[in-house]
Amino acid sequence: MNSKSSNTITIQGTVQGVGFRPFVYRTAIEYSITGSVSNNSGGVIIHAFGNANSMAGFIQSIKTNAPVLARITNIDVSEKTTGKQPPEFLIVESEQDGPNRIDITADTGVCDSCLAEMLDPQNRRFGHPFINCTDCGPRYTIIKELPYDRVHTTMAQFPMCNACKKEYDDPRNRRYHAQPICCNKCGPTLALTDSLGKHISTYDPILSAIALLQQGKIVAIKGIGGFHLACRADASETVRLLRQKKQREEKPFALMVETVAQAQNLAFVSLHENQLLLSRERPIVILKKKPSPLTICDAVAPHMTTLGIMLPYTPIQHLLFKSGISMPLVMTSANISDQPICYCNAEAYESLGNIADAFLTHDRDIYIRNDDSIVRIIDDAPVIMRRSRGFVPQSLPTPKPVDSLVALGGVLKSTVAVGRGNNCYCSHYLGSIETLEDLDAMDKTIHHLTHALNVEPTGFVCDLHPQSLVLSYANQQGRPVTAIQHHHAHAAACMAENEIPGDALCIVFDGTGYGDDGTIWGSEFLHATYTSYTRLGHMSYLSLPGGDEAIRNPGRIALAGLAPILGKEVFTAMPWMPDFEKQAILDMVASNTNGPKSCGMGRLFDAVSALLGICTHRSFEGQPAMLLEGAVAEHETGAYGSPLGFDESGISIDAGAMLGEIWYDLKEKTPAPVIAARFHTTLAQATAAAATICAQECNNKNVCLCGGVFQNAVLVTRLVPLLKQSGLIPYVHRRMPPNDESISYGQLVIAGAREVEKLRS
Ligand code: ZN
Ligand code: ZN
Ligand code: FE
Repeated sequence: MNSKSSNTITIQGTVQGVGFRPFVYRTAIEYSITGSVSNNSGGVIIHAFGNANSMAGFIQSIKTNAPVLARITNIDVSEKTTGKQPPEFLIVESEQDGPNRIDITADTGVCDSCLAEMLDPQNRRFGHPFINCTDCGPRYTIIKELPYDRVHTTMAQFPMCNACKKEYDDPRNRRYHAQPICCNKCGPTLALTDSLGKHISTYDPILSAIALLQQGKIVAIKGIGGFHLACRADASETVRLLRQKKQREEKPFALMVETVAQAQNLAFVSLHENQLLLSRERPIVILKKKPSPLTICDAVAPHMTTLGIMLPYTPIQHLLFKSGISMPLVMTSANISDQPICYCNAEAYESLGNIADAFLTHDRDIYIRNDDSIVRIIDDAPVIMRRSRGFVPQSLPTPKPVDSLVALGGVLKSTVAVGRGNNCYCSHYLGSIETLEDLDAMDKTIHHLTHALNVEPTGFVCDLHPQSLVLSYANQQGRPVTAIQHHHAHAAACMAENEIPGDALCIVFDGTGYGDDGTIWGSEFLHATYTSYTRLGHMSYLSLPGGDEAIRNPGRIALAGLAPILGKEVFTAMPWMPDFEKQAILDMVASNTNGPKSCGMGRLFDAVSALLGICTHRSFEGQPAMLLEGAVAEHETGAYGSPLGFDESGISIDAGAMLGEIWYDLKEKTPAPVIAARFHTTLAQATAAAATICAQECNNKNVCLCGGVFQNAVLVTRLVPLLKQSGLIPYVHRRMPPNDESISYGQLVIAGAREVEKLRS
């Protein structure tokens, strides 16, 4: 017998602004359910009436067929016996029943349906450069505050035409309540300007921009989260000029190609990488470069064995490729050196006028900037190297409530994080916070996130480092400030992301972080909980002769490390370094002056890379390690003796011993790629052995690998099986980057857990 059933269904997660109510409406019609659906502050609420069989199908379909951008975190179904069955199913207006607690969605690449319409001459949005629907388009970058309505976005200045309004109001339409909805008649307009921002009169800005690009010009193109600087990737003069003007010596440029097949002309693309390239997030995917691809010049990614490639994601980018661009384009964030990406028209003309020959721009404002995300496959699954467009502001879990806390992150590769309930909302990539301008951008981001999430900050969290702009900012907010040690934050972020309860052994390998003893840390074996940690071991300290100069010129670190082992023989190492410089370095080491000490694992990679002559001069952060990894002879399985030992602070990896072994191998004329492989294997073995000892001490099998060094695929791929062989359970970052972008997340998690602990005691 088919009995009557009535239910109240409450759905939480990212369920507003993603076409959820019309989806529920269509599903209800399909299953002959009557009742209503509405938004409220906590999510979506459905009152459903029908027979029991249909009800089961209806609820199942909501769970499994939700719109692409929806993320359901919780569905609650409660039996309801009261109320009369209504004759039809309705979408009713939002119930304002308290403070807004909904999630805003990430910016998403144009969907297949919109793309097909844009390319269909019969469609009224044929060639429309701003086409979007509830499944795609800009969100995070155009929303000013909640509720997510057109008036609260940068589309407010464009009134809908009648045709668009009709679609907007029709629950059966794909654009029902799509806030950025527009068309050729009512939407923003494209413009082409010269380098000063003066309009260039043209019938079709896209075709004119294509002509300029084909001629080898640099065109600044407005995207979702800012401007790109684009030029053809095969024009070596242009690419070199772009490097010079952008003051970017060797850091690789990202490429954009139209299809996966074109990416395959340049690089090896696995099935997994293929999916990543085509994913809605449309990140830059780091791919293994094919030998000398013809359609790109060397200046795109000097000395690199990888390429960063993405596919078009905005309608404008698609139009460029569909209307004439056939070669790969350099598509690099439009900024100078490490400054934030430009996102306002006026600001772009001012700061990019010297770089770009022309601007392909428009009058829809970007409210908050957002760089391209970067992803690479490590150990058969994606690892995010930069988490921005497409991912931000998806929430991350926290073990304890973090409500109304704001974490300010680290100093380099910074992000900020805002807490609401048991969720952490991590911002887009902010870059370094070293100037007042950077601080302004950080402040604006905090305002944006707290407004969009409806959070009033009650406390701030920042790094332990006693001197930083960020700390003084925190102290000016008139709220309590909590300071968290850098590597503890790394550890907590990895534990929280992997939802590890209680405690774990966390191995944190990175470049630099301020230790709780005032020294520079960066190779930590921590037994961590969400509130505290014990340091069980680390790498021996390396001398950095000349401080920052040793970072730029990492042969100095190698020389200082080798000196105690080699004595006078050290003068024969690294023949490219002049003897007078070597003598000066040795003097600094001997007198213990001007040589800060660091146990940052990144510094060992720098030193090895320089010692092998692979990267003797660092022109961007991480370059020596990237080139060293790229040089590895894949099939080499040899390794050096174990560099493990013990000292007063616990287990120790002897960096000097490894440098010594490498030196003797080099003297035997062993090729650098073989040595690079042996170094990675030795470090993996030493780390696994140290982890096994530390895990026993912690009485815990869970091992978190975090810190920027674990962006190294060779190291991770060699270390993970060794840990498993020892009966340990390795965890890596998959939702946040292993690097300092995770610091704000970890800070928030620890501050929340400590508050709970304080309340208990
Ligand atoms: Zn769409
Ligand atoms: Zn319209
Ligand atoms: Fe770090």
